[in-house]
Amino acid sequence: MTEDEIKEIKVLLSTPKNVVIVPHRNPDGDAIGACLAIYHYLKNKGHKATVVAPNDYPDFLKWLPGSKEAYKFDMQNRQSKNALDEASIVFLLDFNALHRVGSDMQQTLEDYIGTFIMIDHHQQPDTIAKYLYSDVAICSTCQMVYHFLEKLDDVKSINAAIATCLYTGIMTDTGSFRFPSTTSTTHRIIADLIDKGAENAKIHNNVYDTNSFGRLQLLGKALSNMVVVDKLKTAYITLSQEELDEFNFEKGDTEGVVNYALSLEGIIFAVIFIEDVDQQIIKISLRSKGSFSVNKFSREHFDGGGHDNAAGGKSRVSLEATISKFLNVLPKYQKELLHSYEA
Ligand code: 5GP
Ligand code: MN
Repeated sequence: MTEDEIKEIKVLLSTPKNVVIVPHRNPDGDAIGACLAIYHYLKNKGHKATVVAPNDYPDFLKWLPGSKEAYKFDMQNRQSKNALDEASIVFLLDFNALHRVGSDMQQTLEDYIGTFIMIDHHQQPDTIAKYLYSDVAICSTCQMVYHFLEKLDDVKSINAAIATCLYTGIMTDTGSFRFPSTTSTTHRIIADLIDKGAENAKIHNNVYDTNSFGRLQLLGKALSNMVVVDKLKTAYITLSQEELDEFNFEKGDTEGVVNYALSLEGIIFAVIFIEDVDQQIIKISLRSKGSFSVNKFSREHFDGGGHDNAAGGKSRVSLEATISKFLNVLPKYQKELLHSYEA
C-alpha cells in the first residue's frame, strides 16, 4: 500500500460511509478478529459498518465483542445482500482470492462495483482490490490491521474491544506466539494491546479452555488414527464422517488437531484429512516445519494453498482414495522433506 493510497483511504474514511467487512469462509480467529476490529474501529468513527461472514464460525469465537451483530451470508442472505448493495467500501480480510468465500458469496462479490480494500498475509494475492495491503511475512491479518491503523496515524483509536479482537487473531494465528512468524514486533504490538484493554488471560481461557467432552474424545480418536511415515518425516491423521458423528462433532472441534502430528519428534510434515459428507469433500489441513512448503504441495495436489508452513486444501474423491493419492505423491518430495532445515 503506497503513501498515496493511504492518503486516498484517509479521504474515503473522512466522511460517514456504509462499509461491509468480509472474512473467508469457515472464518478462524484471525479472520473474525480482524473483521470485528475493523468493525468497531469504523463504527466508532461514525460509519455504518457490517460484518458479513460467508458462514458460521466456532463457538469459541462467539464471545468476541460485536460477534452477535455479524451476518452469515448463508443464513441471513437477504440482510447480507442488502448490506453489500448499500456499501461503498468492502474490506476483504484474511484471504486474497474471491473463491475463498465460497461459490454463492463469490458471485455476489464478483458483481460488486464499489471499492475493495484487501488486507491479507497469504501468498499470491489476486488483483481484485483497488487497495491491497499484502505481506506474507506477517504472522496474522490482525497484526496487519494494527499496522494499517498505524498507517492511518490512528493507533490511538484502539479501544478495549478492538484490542481484544486483534489480540485474539494474533494469538490464534501464531499458535499462541510460538510459530516462527512471531517477531519482537508482534510481541510489542501484543503488549500495546494489553495496555489498551485486551485481557490476555481471559482471552486464552475463552478460546482454548472451553472444550466439550465430545471434542476431547474426538481428539483421542484422531490421535489414535495417526499414521507415521517415518522415512519421509511425515505424519497424517484421518477422521471419517462416521467418527465425527460418533463424537457429536461441532464446528471448530478439529481446529489445531493437525499440530499434534507435527509435534511428533522428527516429523516436519503433518496433514489431517477430514471427511465432509454434506459438502462431498475431504477437507485437508497441512502443516510443516522448516523450508518444506505446504502451500506449494497443496496447490500442486489438493486444490488449495495458504502459507509455507500452514495451508489448506480439499479433495473430491473418497477418504481412502485421497489417502492413496497422498501416499503416491509423497515420495516425490523425498529430497525436500529430508532437507527441510529442522529435519
Ligand atoms: P487451515 O488448515 O487452518 O484450514 O488453513 C491453513 C491456512 O491456509 C490458513 O491461513 C488458511 O486461510 C489457508 N487456506 C486454507 N484453505 C485454503 C485454500 O483452499 N486456498 C488457499 N489459498 N488458502 C487456504
Ligand atoms: Mn490469518
